[in-house]
Amino acid sequence: MRVFLERTTLTPQLSNVRCNSCGRDVEKEDPGYFEDHISLTKSWGYHSPYDGETHDIDLCVDCYQGWVNQFEIPPYVTCCFTGTRE
Ligand SMILES: [Zn+2]
Repeated sequence: MRVFLERTTLTPQLSNVRCNSCGRDVEKEDPGYFEDHISLTKSWGYHSPYDGETHDIDLCVDCYQGWVNQFEIPPYVTCCFTGTRE
């Protein structure tokens, strides 16, 4: 017979998102939901300057807009409601 101890396990819960670019907190609109923002995770591979590193970045909408406005080629955009390209 095996006897198990009961343990309380803590589950991490996201409590805040801070924009990596401007440092602003992405405000919660409702409990559990944040103002829309972008979260990027990139695991860098061989021959990159960040070989073996994983980078996580969060950007607020304003900083995302400022970032993509610098692009020579804009992001490929589709409408999530219709699936069509805008
Ligand atoms: Zn920002």
